[in-house]
Amino acid sequence: MNIPRYYLSLIDENNPNDPIKKLAFPSDEELVIAGSMGETTKDPYGDDKHNKGNGILHKYPYSALIVATDYCSMYCRHCFRKAIVGLPNDKTVENFQKALEYIKEHKEITNVIISGGDPFLIDTQKLKRMLEGLKTIDHVNFVRIGTRTPVVYPMRFFDEELMEYLKEFNKVKPLFIPTHFNHVNEITETATQAVLKIREAGIAVNNQAVFLKGVNDSVKDIEDLMSGLTKIGVNPYYLYQCMPVSRVRNHFQIPLKEGIDIVDEAKEKLDGYAKRFKFIMGHDKGKIEIVGRQNDNLFLKHIHSRPEFPKDASKMMVMKLSDGAGWLEDMEEINL
Ligand code: SF4
Repeated sequence: MNIPRYYLSLIDENNPNDPIKKLAFPSDEELVIAGSMGETTKDPYGDDKHNKGNGILHKYPYSALIVATDYCSMYCRHCFRKAIVGLPNDKTVENFQKALEYIKEHKEITNVIISGGDPFLIDTQKLKRMLEGLKTIDHVNFVRIGTRTPVVYPMRFFDEELMEYLKEFNKVKPLFIPTHFNHVNEITETATQAVLKIREAGIAVNNQAVFLKGVNDSVKDIEDLMSGLTKIGVNPYYLYQCMPVSRVRNHFQIPLKEGIDIVDEAKEKLDGYAKRFKFIMGHDKGKIEIVGRQNDNLFLKHIHSRPEFPKDASKMMVMKLSDGAGWLEDMEEINL
């Protein structure tokens, strides 16, 4: 475990159910590997299968994800990469050189995601060297840096040298920052300032929250989070169904039947920009949007499919919903 002092200060010690505490502190519930919510795995997103052995995960033809580091400023209790993050395995730059070679050879790659761990834990000089390598690859249209640093350690963005460099990079290749706010209590004055610094560099910030029991599982939680994000200039992008991760699923996953109702009710109250987010499953088969339900029929739509499942691209599915279903495999597909 690792919790930055700043994030620790957001916890209300008088609240036994404090959402920030649940995101940061281990609980004895993590001793439950699977439990009542069903099967679990250490690799719910198929990362191991798509690992090209050079720090690259190449899941979709057009996108390459570089695992730039295994370190994070905080180790989130719900992390789906829990099995790998935080391990002493700092091959950062060596891996990055190999990753660049791979991207140069694969002209179908139009965009690169630098992820981890958290890339903003890499020191500024090293990060600059990495990004310089991407600048010169013609077929890369844009770059994303996935990070939770604006949320858990926002002071990182007060580094003027870093921000100046990102601003210059963004003029050559558009840069996007997907981040990960889960609760309105994370939207502090300091986080707002960090987001402002990023926006001043001309970089768009998109949020990918995770839907978590005991953290953001009410209509008000989702409403406050999404409208709070638009207030600081962050685009609500995805709300992920919590994956069936070992030591995570049992206490954090919200059943889909309950979850879709919470999301729909929150969307009824939100303005157009705040409700742009898609409620999705980040599945081994690709990304699947949870569109809505009619009684016990759940409507799903594939929005990205892995190349191994070409027939699934843009496919609509109707699934039989039971009270406890929390993942695709818990339901049967039906024909209407
Ligand atoms: S910052 Fe991201 S990768 Fe790191 S522990 Fe949290 S969720 Fe996992």
